[in-house]
Amino acid sequence: MRLNRYLAQAGVASRRAAEDLIRSGRVAVNGHIVTELATVVDDDANVTVDSKPVRVAEHFTYIIMHKPFGVMTTMSDPEGRKTIADILPRSLPRVVPVGRLDFDTAGLLLLTNDGELAHRLMHPKFGVRKLYRVTVRGELSEKSIEALRRGLRLEDGPTAPAIVRVIRRTDRSTILDISIHEGRNRQVRRMFEAVGAPVEKLARQAFGSVEIGPLAVGRWRHLTAREVADLRATTAPGPEQRRGHVD
Ligand code: URA
Repeated sequence: MRLNRYLAQAGVASRRAAEDLIRSGRVAVNGHIVTELATVVDDDANVTVDSKPVRVAEHFTYIIMHKPFGVMTTMSDPEGRKTIADILPRSLPRVVPVGRLDFDTAGLLLLTNDGELAHRLMHPKFGVRKLYRVTVRGELSEKSIEALRRGLRLEDGPTAPAIVRVIRRTDRSTILDISIHEGRNRQVRRMFEAVGAPVEKLARQAFGSVEIGPLAVGRWRHLTAREVADLRATTAPGPEQRRGHVD
């Protein structure tokens, strides 16, 4: 495997950033500094970055968790709040979350030690769709829904068009599904705030082709080989991008 791909798979950096590490002489293979980008490494090579060993997990681990409300998407919390590490058994290989959900957001969280796939799933270039079930107070107007669909201006720039489907609308609350392919901080909450409808409840239903399905709140499972293959296909280079649950 090429050295930059090896470093990306080990979760050290994106392929591009790995090339910079190689060029700047920070990477050694079997004890020798390597600056040649085309270097190919064997699976059992001894690769270091800044003299620290780097290993690609032989068999990657891919987890789906149904994160409850009131849990941090981190492995530890200085304030002692519950974290996703409290849900996962210690016997699992070390995995990290693919992106994050807010403390007060529930739903589908992916975790893996496949650095390269995680990077692709989060990279805006691949535009992987995320589907959220949202409850807002009051009856959301058609005008507001249209604004969400078209895209609206947030302080960090305009949002891309979203797919919005009303599930139930009463004079007390509106429940909607919204699918976006960006992943900015608190984006869904900020989008609804921008149309004057603060979010009361937010839960992620799908990430790309992976759906939460019947997985109970607070539970986790390994992804099936099929689900992993579909996620890989979603982020495969090519003209067909922004694929996911709704396309
Ligand atoms: N958008 C939000 O506002 N919060 C989340 O947790 C995820 C998406």
